[in-house]
Amino acid sequence: MTTTTPSGHSRKSVIIVGGGVIGLCVAYYAMRKGHRVTVIDRATEDHPGCSHKNAGMVVPSHFIPLAAPGMVLTGIKMLGNRESPFSIRPRCSPRLAKWLWMFYRSATRQHVQRASSVLRDLGLESRRSFCELSDGFGHEFGLIQKGLLMLCKKEKTLHEESIIAEKALDLGIEAKILSPSETAKTDPQIQMSIAGSVYFPRDCHLNPSRFLKCLKIALKSGGVTFHWQTNVRKLETRSGAIEKILTDSSEFQADEYVIAGGVWSPQTIHHLGVPLLLEGGKGYSVTLEEPDSLPSICSILTEARVAVTPIDNNLRFAGTMEISGLDDSINPNRIRGIQKSIPKYFPNYQGIDLHKQKIWSGLRPCSPDGLPYIGRTRKHQNLTIATGHAMLGLSLGPITGKLTAEILSNESPSIDLSLLNPDRFH
Ligand SMILES: Cc1cc2nc3c(=O)[nH]c(=O)nc-3n(C[C@H](O)[C@H](O)[C@H](O)COP(=O)(O)OP(=O)(O)OC[C@H]3O[C@@H](n4cnc5c(N)ncnc54)[C@H](O)[C@@H]3O)c2cc1C
Repeated sequence: MTTTTPSGHSRKSVIIVGGGVIGLCVAYYAMRKGHRVTVIDRATEDHPGCSHKNAGMVVPSHFIPLAAPGMVLTGIKMLGNRESPFSIRPRCSPRLAKWLWMFYRSATRQHVQRASSVLRDLGLESRRSFCELSDGFGHEFGLIQKGLLMLCKKEKTLHEESIIAEKALDLGIEAKILSPSETAKTDPQIQMSIAGSVYFPRDCHLNPSRFLKCLKIALKSGGVTFHWQTNVRKLETRSGAIEKILTDSSEFQADEYVIAGGVWSPQTIHHLGVPLLLEGGKGYSVTLEEPDSLPSICSILTEARVAVTPIDNNLRFAGTMEISGLDDSINPNRIRGIQKSIPKYFPNYQGIDLHKQKIWSGLRPCSPDGLPYIGRTRKHQNLTIATGHAMLGLSLGPITGKLTAEILSNESPSIDLSLLNPDRFH
């Protein structure tokens, strides 16, 4: 039943499928708008999909979408290397073929230009929201606002990153090109062997599982209902709208339905004739507990494409992008690739053995044009999609939550969402 909130919009019942970072952020902002929210997830509460052991970076500096000129060639060059950070697992799938074709079509200068402004707006607004959330949650999720270093081993890479830094400055994102000694002054706690770096002072990092925990505590105390270990099997429709959700054991009804199911979203809504194009981009993370030396700033080993994040007294390494469908198995060759790269940049880490640590894998929900899907679907008036954030799901969680809550409240979204339309590929 729909009633009215003190701010004048309808108070609705909302079901969110997916309790990862996107689903929880949507739940949080929908709850704050006065809606009655239910979250359903087939996972256990402590292990939602891709969200709890990622690299924890909040990166407005990542304004260039994955689908960019040069990426196709870079991808092809890396294919033969079993330890490389990028791979596509070949399989006979019309969906993969369509995804690859759309990726190729999107990898243009014009697309990058249009997408960069949107990603910039989303990234900066989300960062602002993280600061508010951190204050509101008593700094519980460890937000560190010290920036990000893009560490470059080779002059050629430094030159390429410098061009990106100039684009960042054009877009209003602070960036500084640093020599090795300037980089060492920026993070004196760790020895580095590099040709230089690009420093993005506005980027941040945090503890992703603690962020999810803070959200869940706030949601529970705000009256949000959770159904963990509950698989959504089907959405039933009536007269151009979703009427109810069927799980393996029961059914649920609401005014509005949000699909925030990460890489599994297409499966969940395929029967509705909403063919969402998404591929799983598998990545791994490994966390070293209390190592002898610890950087104070998060960084990316640029050539190796490995993210390095100090989280509390531990150090997390994350990397690889394997387009591998829904397979989340661990490929030891890729871990070896990550391991080999670390001492090249941080000589103190010579001799570490990542294989002795617990390895986590996650499937990033990747759209072919590198932009998320946020918006209502054309076919079903009360069905909203919030997924496809690929490498930026944590970074863009709060802004996705805010925008989706605006959509649910029938308000005009505060950022133009036309490039993020979930129907854009059909
Ligand atoms: C190695 C690695 C490092 C990363 N580092 C960063 C980083 O530093 N910064 C950043 O911004 N991003 C990072 N990411 C990306 C980020 O983790 C993802 O974009 C984000 O977690 C996606 O969140 P999500 O909520 O969309 O999906 P998920 O976290 O996968 O959640 C989806 C949930 O939906 C549930 N679900 C799906 N279908 C159904 C169904 N039918 N019924 C019931 N439940 C269902 C699943 O069980 C799952 O819990 C990284 C990813 C990886 C793999």
